[in-house]
Amino acid sequence: MDTLHHWAGGTALTSTGERVGEVTDPATGEVTRHVAFATEADVEAVIGAARDAFPGWRDTSLTARTQILFRFRELLNARADELAAIITAEHGKVLSDAAGEVARGQEVVEFACGMPHLLKGSATENASTGVDVHSVRQPLGVVGIISPFNFPAMVPMWFFPIAIAAGNTVVLKPSEKVPSAAQWLAELWAEAGLPDGVFNVLHGDRTAVDGLLTHPDVRSVSFVGSTPIARHVYETGTAHGKRVQALGGAKNHAVVLPDADLDLAADQAVNAGFGSAGERCMAISAVVAVGSAGDALVERIAERARGLVTGDGRRGADMGPLVTRAAQERVSSYVDAGEAAGATLVVDGRKVTPDAEGSGFFVGPTLFDHVTTDMSIYTDEIFGPVLSVLRVDSYEQAVALVNANPYGNGTAIFTNDGGAARRFQHEVEVGMIGINVPVPVPMAYYSFGGWKSSLFGDTHAHGTEGVHFFTRGKVVTTRWIDPAHRGGAGGIDLGF
Ligand code: NAD
Repeated sequence: MDTLHHWAGGTALTSTGERVGEVTDPATGEVTRHVAFATEADVEAVIGAARDAFPGWRDTSLTARTQILFRFRELLNARADELAAIITAEHGKVLSDAAGEVARGQEVVEFACGMPHLLKGSATENASTGVDVHSVRQPLGVVGIISPFNFPAMVPMWFFPIAIAAGNTVVLKPSEKVPSAAQWLAELWAEAGLPDGVFNVLHGDRTAVDGLLTHPDVRSVSFVGSTPIARHVYETGTAHGKRVQALGGAKNHAVVLPDADLDLAADQAVNAGFGSAGERCMAISAVVAVGSAGDALVERIAERARGLVTGDGRRGADMGPLVTRAAQERVSSYVDAGEAAGATLVVDGRKVTPDAEGSGFFVGPTLFDHVTTDMSIYTDEIFGPVLSVLRVDSYEQAVALVNANPYGNGTAIFTNDGGAARRFQHEVEVGMIGINVPVPVPMAYYSFGGWKSSLFGDTHAHGTEGVHFFTRGKVVTTRWIDPAHRGGAGGIDLGF
């Protein structure tokens, strides 16, 4: 069985250590390859490759940098299916979902193709007599990106196209559960003509992460993952003088008002709750049914959930497996806990018969009704296909419930009342809001990020905030003496 090693300076770099992780195919349960876990010496070598490449890349013209971005885009368009297949084989999400992930990542590449415009500074003539001022934005240097298992391509692509286009060099530490997409992307960059050392991949676990967080040559860290690790990354990285954006976990609510189109709301709750087996940071895991909406909504969601096919993502199923056996067991134990706590189990995913060979990590769509805010199925981020319906009497109670939650990544409201939707978007303490849109992931030219325990730091991903994160500003104040004043003792006569 092969072992995937690091990528540094445009070539594979064999780990100096023996520690490896197992990569599994979640639909069959089989171990498909191993991935090296970085030693401290590996961390040093990979960061060193990025550091050495930085001066040359920083000084490469914007035109040349952008041409490489365009070539990367063309290659990715032509070969997107290959990347989607790698994602499905290691993450388990169905192929159409994996293709969607690649497309959303590609949008950031396209955004970064416009970097010359986005990097323009400003200028002021005659700020004082004969004095001009202008500003520029320059790259940081070596930037670290640490990504979670649930979007092996899209999450790294929220960051690296912008970082690279701005003139930085990158060390990507992908999730050890899904490491192969990063390797594929590294090879694609090489094919696109990116100079060696500009994009590097460091595989591993905490040793790799802490190496990036503490190394003096790493200028910034962009992290996406669970809230406890995001907090650790933010605190450690900033304590070591780095710029850090650390995106954490989520518990996203869909509020359904009684006037909503309940068929639309049920369709969207099913897509947003069970898509990618609930392993999305923007998944809806709590539906807040207001007033009379409850019974009819639960009935409609249950009917749709029962009709979903769970199975191998390569076989046309609606929903794939969980990422690991541990994740499957964890999600099942939450279903046990919800039942024991007295929630009404309307659809039980533990009993699913998947369309797959082998012993994959499946839990089918699961629906709970009459969930209360003290139950662990509500308080915890389950990160699986478990949808909880909570019932409240009024809009005010719904907003208070959403705002009391420690997370604030995404939320949605379903209603036909524009005034109610307008109040909701104003009052709700969440970073990304959908109005009759269940998974309101911003386009690449806006910025992605939650509030409260869903994001540590003050800069969201991609869009103009991403450009800002990966550059630092410089202001130049200039006084040039008019040539008419020259020509005196020691001066040069320019003929004015
Ligand atoms: P995770 O926190 O376990 O892992 C994320 C990264 O941190 C991985 O690269 C992992 O190797 C590393 N890591 C894990 N444990 C570590 C430790 N003790 N010390 C240092 N590094 C460590 O997250 P995950 O399970 O891979 O991903 C799922 C989580 O990510 C969910 O909580 C989900 O909500 C969140 N997520 C958030 C967003 C967002 O935009 N806010 C997007 C995607 C995923």
